[in-house]
Amino acid sequence: MLFLFDIDGTLLRDMPPAHRMALCDAAEQVFAVTVEPRHLGKTAGMTDSAIARRMLMEAGVTAASLSDGLPAFFAAAADAYDRLVPDNLRPYLTPHAVASLEWLRGHQAVLGLVTGNIERIAWRKLAAAGVDGYFSFGAFGDEAELRDELPPRAIARAELITARQFALDEIFVVGDTPADIACGAASHLRTIAVATGPEHSLDDLHTCQPDYIFPDLSGLLGAPLFGQT
Ligand SMILES: [Mg+2]
Repeated sequence: MLFLFDIDGTLLRDMPPAHRMALCDAAEQVFAVTVEPRHLGKTAGMTDSAIARRMLMEAGVTAASLSDGLPAFFAAAADAYDRLVPDNLRPYLTPHAVASLEWLRGHQAVLGLVTGNIERIAWRKLAAAGVDGYFSFGAFGDEAELRDELPPRAIARAELITARQFALDEIFVVGDTPADIACGAASHLRTIAVATGPEHSLDDLHTCQPDYIFPDLSGLLGAPLFGQT
């Protein structure tokens, strides 16, 4: 079994706005444009690449300079996040997040990430929450703008690290938004929706037809999922 976890809204929620501030800080440093964190709009389910494109184009950055400056933007955002992130993000873990990671690891599940976060921000965020040790690989929002492109990258890394292959029905994408369900479905993976995010209720998520849907990650505990594969 391979479980690919989203981070924001799935493992962590309601965090102080360090991530948004870091993106705005990087926009100022690299592109000399001012964007207020509160003007970033809804970002749930988006990759940081997509968020960056939207915020920078709206601020008047041209497509050409955006492409040229994106690597510097990602590096500046990660540096800013290192400065801005609270030391302790444990209070922002979603209900049963640690218990479900612990349970899955105890049942020999392989755990990875499929997140829209810039990779360095993802690892820093998980470390501040004390859960980075559950994960050793993933696919990240600075690698692709389209979330659908992330699961195949994460699976390739899982297979490299474990030296085994995973059947499609052994792979689960876990997330809090329609974009998470869509990216899993695009790769013919099983999908698990959790209604722990800021924008999407159980009803919203039902309409995306995930394979499984739970109010929170306690749905993974003692997972009936394992009996059905
Ligand atoms: Mg999310």
